[in-house]
Amino acid sequence: MSNTPVKTRFAPSPTGHLHLGNLRTALFSALLARREGGVFLLRIEDTDAARSSDAHVHALMEDLRWLGLEWQEGPEVGGPNGPYAQSLRGHIYAADYSRLESAGLAYPCFCSDEILRLSRKAQLAAGQPPRYPGTCARLSPQDVRARLDKGLKPTLRFRVPPGRRIRFDDLVRGSQVFDTDTIGDFVIRRSDGTPSFFFSNAVDDAMMGVTHVLRGEDHLANTPRQMMVMEALDLPVPAYGHISLILGEDGAPLSKRHGALSLRELRDRGYLPQALLNHLARLGHSYEADGFMDLDALARGFDAARLGRAPARHDPVQLDHWQHQAVLALADDGLARWLGPMLEDEVPAGARGPFLRVVRDNISFPGEARDWARRLFGAPPVPDAEAGQVMARAGSAFFDAALVALAASPGDFRVLAGQVGTATGLKGRHLFMPLRAALTGRTHGPEMKDLWPLLGPERVAERLAHARDSLSS
Ligand code: GLU
Repeated sequence: MSNTPVKTRFAPSPTGHLHLGNLRTALFSALLARREGGVFLLRIEDTDAARSSDAHVHALMEDLRWLGLEWQEGPEVGGPNGPYAQSLRGHIYAADYSRLESAGLAYPCFCSDEILRLSRKAQLAAGQPPRYPGTCARLSPQDVRARLDKGLKPTLRFRVPPGRRIRFDDLVRGSQVFDTDTIGDFVIRRSDGTPSFFFSNAVDDAMMGVTHVLRGEDHLANTPRQMMVMEALDLPVPAYGHISLILGEDGAPLSKRHGALSLRELRDRGYLPQALLNHLARLGHSYEADGFMDLDALARGFDAARLGRAPARHDPVQLDHWQHQAVLALADDGLARWLGPMLEDEVPAGARGPFLRVVRDNISFPGEARDWARRLFGAPPVPDAEAGQVMARAGSAFFDAALVALAASPGDFRVLAGQVGTATGLKGRHLFMPLRAALTGRTHGPEMKDLWPLLGPERVAERLAHARDSLSS
């Protein structure tokens, strides 16, 4: 990397909630800046007033902060290149439009949508790629004046220089060459006066000093257009890296069907930010180590050269793997906060710390912790099918023996199990499973010796008696 401090950016359009695709773009950009000790900038691309909303802007900022992707320049934090919402930058764009127009590098276009549609249709029918045929490119100043006087509202088109090749080295996809003869003159200002994406996105990156743009490969063909705009305005061109798209497991573009929910939905389901970060950082980027990492470690190991060209696959099972790792990595107070009021509602005061330590290995979501809390501290649990079978096989005499052993040694599970073993002649899983099933209603879960003190002799007695009674009737 050169000596210019690295500045990356995330430039969402606030037209909906953030989902895995745009979050990954934000994450890669944030990681690159963090790794280089640079700046991560947030810019709101709200040029589509009808579809953008303040509510979405606030939601996306909250989502980024929840993930730990703080920006060092942008809305609410400020910086030297504001304003950071494109809807507030009209005066900046206006000056650039005038410059381009006076230099003959842009011209007003009066073609109606209908005319453009017909021209596209004719080009496609002739087997040509559709592009603007240049109808308004040679209008005289008088022609322009006459149309304006009639009240027509033109768009402004960028005049693409013929016969040139636009080259750049994509950080992900390597050397790229585009022939300008394949690019029609494109709109840089819409007829309602708002800037087109090609224009405002390019001008803002350059004016805000962005050095590295990481974005989806669906933008690759936009890049030569944007480079021409920056060049025409003598603006510096950032380095671009176009990251591969995310696909579902079946190879189709990612959608809700693949569990690709919005961040809001994932958060509501109990996913932890660290789980999403570890999952997303590996979608299309490989790390040397495959262990769970915090944001700093993810940034240290991030390298644009390790971004893959092949589409990345989102596998919800992988996300759940990272979720479990994230739960294991939480400090006790973080775990308690994540579980929320449930912990107080369902777990007796003195048992909360030990409860967290015991169930941590066995949960990935708060609902699972609630389930364990109810199993351990509520009424004797209804056994699941497998637990029911195990208990039935053991029979009521088994639980009679367990109650006798409990009366003799209530404090230690191993001693009790030893006594029940001696009394019944059972060993191994045949001995332990019925006890587990009666005490927890399940055949798997935390170690019995750890559950034992949480349950306490009274609940243990109650459950063993309950099991015996349910079998002897
Ligand atoms: N507002 C654009 C989008 O959300 C930004 C694209 C880019 O990163 O350049 O797709």
